[in-house]
Amino acid sequence: MLNPGTLIEETFDVLVAGAGVAGICAALAAARQGARTVLLEPRPFIGGNAATGLCIHTFKTKDGRQVVHGLAQEIVDRLVEQGGAVGHVPLPDGYVHSITPVDADLFRMETTAMLARAGVTILYNTALVDADARDGRVHRVLVCSKSQLGYLKAKTFVDATGDADLAHRAGAPLRTGWPGTGAMQPVSMMMRAVSVDTRKACAALAEKPPAFARKKGVAEPIPVYFHGTFTRWNKVLREAGVYDHDDHQFWTNTVWPDQLNFNGSRMANIDGSNPLALSRATVALTEQLQKLGAFLRQHVDGFQSASFLPNAFVGVRETRNVHGLYELSENDIRIGARFTDAIGQGCFPVDIHHPDGKSQEHIDIGGDGAYDIPYRSLVPRRTENLLVAGRCISVSTYAHGATRNMAPCMTTGEAAGVAAALSAQSDVACAELPLGKLQDALLAAGVYLGEPLEQRRAA
Ligand SMILES: Cc1cc2nc3c(=O)[nH]c(=O)nc-3n(C[C@H](O)[C@H](O)[C@H](O)COP(=O)(O)OP(=O)(O)OC[C@H]3O[C@@H](n4cnc5c(N)ncnc54)[C@H](O)[C@@H]3O)c2cc1C
Repeated sequence: MLNPGTLIEETFDVLVAGAGVAGICAALAAARQGARTVLLEPRPFIGGNAATGLCIHTFKTKDGRQVVHGLAQEIVDRLVEQGGAVGHVPLPDGYVHSITPVDADLFRMETTAMLARAGVTILYNTALVDADARDGRVHRVLVCSKSQLGYLKAKTFVDATGDADLAHRAGAPLRTGWPGTGAMQPVSMMMRAVSVDTRKACAALAEKPPAFARKKGVAEPIPVYFHGTFTRWNKVLREAGVYDHDDHQFWTNTVWPDQLNFNGSRMANIDGSNPLALSRATVALTEQLQKLGAFLRQHVDGFQSASFLPNAFVGVRETRNVHGLYELSENDIRIGARFTDAIGQGCFPVDIHHPDGKSQEHIDIGGDGAYDIPYRSLVPRRTENLLVAGRCISVSTYAHGATRNMAPCMTTGEAAGVAAALSAQSDVACAELPLGKLQDALLAAGVYLGEPLEQRRAA
């Protein structure tokens, strides 16, 4: 019965699958290079996990040197102008130098406008379901839009689906979960609390010095980030059936004086690339957060008048990662490695929520506190016209604990977008792209590539 036709006749230069932070930056970067670009997103809004209310981690090394610039910084600057961000706020006594909270809705609106201005064709409600790939080349992809299946054609493709759906369908080699076990970090659902007295809530809950920021039009500094555990309330939380374990950790962030984004739920043994498992988690975590909201309103100062809005979807930390021309390793992060094919730097430490759902592990970055991300980690093996960006790039399990955060996802997105555009325009396989050309284009776009490559910008 089904005989899918072509959804749009045009052959795009670049097709980006997935409009999380990586896909947004990839599509923007490709379009700004002059590529005719289409961006697919199954949800009726862009942002991916950034739509759930999180800080962008992170722009500065532990000693305060900013190494993430480019589109990530441009987006923060635009959000600051609109009141949707407060810049990079120092975190006293923190595991990072500074945190960068952003309002999820303003992030969505601003980046939507940026994509439209750049001329990107955004296809909402459209999921990639298959790829027509032969001999390492993707010819077209099959998508499912609101009521029809259809093909889309492009010269170069960027997989920014988080789950490496496109690479998977194209037959690229990849790893699912942890080697040997297939285990994955737990999933969590974010929750927005509104009508909160955030200063009182912070005084009641913060266990380490919080980050405060001043905002135009707001009299008092806002506690924009704090962290703690619910140890004091272990008994009541167990009795209320919120958690089946003690000492649950939580993180909050905001850019408003009366709202908090709450990261305080968790479910282990969920494969975030499996729709049945994700649906089960959506139901369970919504219920967990409703109970958590009731607990906060009843027991914690600052929340007495609050309303609680569990997010509409579950946040996924880890699923598939491609095997690329280079796999960034735990050791590369530990030593702050340098690569001649750097396309940007990351400076957020390894942050692993263990698959058992019970513990968390941090590993600091060595050297000067930043590591290079090599272009080869964006190029899946045995492919010609496919790149990956964001959560699913080629990294080991522990390195993924660092690169899965939003600043590196934006950096790899921007680089993949520029590379895809150059590859499409010059008809050169992604792996064969002249490195100098790519790095010059990134430097011209304002991306920081670390020393000594950075000296090229000055030359
Ligand atoms: C609970 C939680 C808290 C976190 N906290 C932080 C934090 O404080 N700071 C930080 O920096 N990072 C944090 N992270 C990590 C970070 O948010 C994500 O790893 C990052 O946003 C991933 O970006 P991405 O663009 O690669 O993928 P995603 O944000 O997952 O975006 C992928 C997009 O692709 C779309 N897609 C999926 N399948 C398909 C398909 N088949 N076809 C087309 N499109 C598809 C999805 O709908 C989605 O929009 C957190 C993660 C979680 C889960």
